[in-house]
Amino acid sequence: MNKEIWKKPKICSDAGGSALIEGVMMRNKNRMAISVRKSTGEIYTEVKDTVPWTKKRKIYGFPFIRGAVSMLESMVSGVKVLMDSAELVDFEDENEKESKFDLWLQKVLGENYITYLLYSSVVIALVFGIGLFMLLPNVIAGFAVSFLRLNTASGTGAFLANLVEGLIRITIFLLYMILVSQNKEIKRVFQYHGAEHKTIHAYENAEELTVENVRKHTTIHPRCGTTFMFLVIMISIVIFAFTGWHNKFVNLIVRLALLPLVSGVSYEVLKFAARTDNKLIRAMSIPGLMLQKITTKEPDDSMIEVAIASLKAVVEEKSADSASETAEGTPVDEKTAVTEMTEALENASTDEKKEAEIDEADTEAVKEKAGKKETDAVFGSSL
Ligand SMILES: [Zn+2]
Repeated sequence: MNKEIWKKPKICSDAGGSALIEGVMMRNKNRMAISVRKSTGEIYTEVKDTVPWTKKRKIYGFPFIRGAVSMLESMVSGVKVLMDSAELVDFEDENEKESKFDLWLQKVLGENYITYLLYSSVVIALVFGIGLFMLLPNVIAGFAVSFLRLNTASGTGAFLANLVEGLIRITIFLLYMILVSQNKEIKRVFQYHGAEHKTIHAYENAEELTVENVRKHTTIHPRCGTTFMFLVIMISIVIFAFTGWHNKFVNLIVRLALLPLVSGVSYEVLKFAARTDNKLIRAMSIPGLMLQKITTKEPDDSMIEVAIASLKAVVEEKSADSASETAEGTPVDEKTAVTEMTEALENASTDEKKEAEIDEADTEAVKEKAGKKETDAVFGSSL
């Protein structure tokens, strides 16, 4: 495993993001940027102010609750920015843009049809996810139970049945990922995902954000959403194992009801694993990190440029609050680069100071503060 993944970042940042269609979304503190490579070749960047759901209400930010809240948020906003990016790229075949179906939808659903589309695609994704990763493993495990003649009325039998189901779930998940990654368009999204991780690595190392600096970093990031997904599956095996074995309907209800708990626990584990030196905790996230070998690919330089444009828009203090357009390959203004570098270094030194404070004081309060800093970053790099 690449050692860089566990290297302590010089900048303990909030930055995170996700890959889009021909683009990258980056998030830092309360700012979000979408950068896409338009069909004309130029990079288009749009910046928005957004407050993460975990900060909207105090209770949403509590440990074990924030995991479920963030998961839901990343699903909703994930679909939204993906749709936005598809719109922004401006694909060449204009005829397809306003298809008859689109026009019909507009007529039927009115002006808010995009919102309806957004929520219905989240619902479809949820139903699909529940069917493929919850119902199907349960049905197959049911066959395995009768084949192996497991007595699910006994504690051990139910435990084993749940384990079998968990293994089937992992297999389905892996097969699904491998299958999806074969698609040419998805492959490009995975390359942008790699570009996003590399750029965040460079930023967290307080390096100037240039293609050369970004290129040399690994595409694997410990706070990635892919790793989170895998943790959810692994932790669900452990938690579900104690819930007994019932008919398919009850099994499904039990699993759905426990999903917020499972995602809440997974979130805390991921957060902890990303900043601990504990070998055992780190070992737990290794399978999830390996999964990033599928969901991230080496990007080309033009993709790295897009990721840099997006991250710059959310980490630079000035000039980033309005939408800006950057021409392809615009050389970085030397003055900006220097200020940026100094800013980055300043941030780094304050962060180091903070870390020192934490080491010295070691009070719960300080720890809590440091923990909070990373809250939104975990989902940062979701798929
Ligand atoms: Zn990621």
